[in-house]
Amino acid sequence: MYNVICFLKISSLSGGTAMKKRTVLVGMLAALTMFAAGCGGKDAAKESKVLRAGTEPTFAPFEFQEKDSKDFTGFDMDLIRAIGKQMGRDVEIKNMGFDALIPAINSGNIDVVASGMSITEERKKAVTFSDPYYTSGLAIIVRNDENNIKSLKDLEGKTISVQIGTTGADKAASVPGAKVKTFNTNAEVFLELNNKNADAVIIDRPVGAYFLTKEGKGQDKIVGETMDAEPYGFAVKKDSKLAGEINKALGELKKNGEYDKI
Ligand code: GLN
Repeated sequence: MYNVICFLKISSLSGGTAMKKRTVLVGMLAALTMFAAGCGGKDAAKESKVLRAGTEPTFAPFEFQEKDSKDFTGFDMDLIRAIGKQMGRDVEIKNMGFDALIPAINSGNIDVVASGMSITEERKKAVTFSDPYYTSGLAIIVRNDENNIKSLKDLEGKTISVQIGTTGADKAASVPGAKVKTFNTNAEVFLELNNKNADAVIIDRPVGAYFLTKEGKGQDKIVGETMDAEPYGFAVKKDSKLAGEINKALGELKKNGEYDKI
């Protein structure tokens, strides 16, 4: 907007000698440049002050919303807020589908993904990850009355419920003959199991275990071992220096005991 105002001023310049006109014009251009740089700089600073974090909040205990609350809670939420604080930046949490997180990084809608996102080679082609901040791994959840499924092998030809875009969905897709049903939220993923429309869920073990202490209590169980270790990282735009800043803050939080507290 300011650029337009300056432009109007210059173009309305009239009268005086050609020399005078040129001097004034040069002066105005210089002023315009400084003004525009000043305004732009201020805007950029204001924008970068807030760290916009994207999350898919049906992943307790890492990110979730308490019943009747719009606030985001959980380990990732506390950690990214503490990281922002360490960096001197306010943190704004944005709720979106898990499969929308990486596109949102690339379109500039968010600065960082804080959503229990496993660091994978595939994702590393699209985004840059911070240092790992938690080690997880996938597990199989079935209903209590299910006695034939004990491992991934037993899921052949079965119906598996998973969240769209996750490593759990990839794992399910790798099972020969399995029918994979994908959902946007983990609430739907578990509902499908307990409505008996799926034989099993594949999900990060800590999330499955937490569910068994809540809605899944008395209904479902974990079977088999945890599959491959999956480190979680905060994802940022490819090659962004934000990864280094997050790592620095994370390192400080580990040193000062804040990470352990969280
Ligand atoms: N850790 C899994 C992944 O990265 C699941 C994450 C999630 O559902 N929030 O795909």
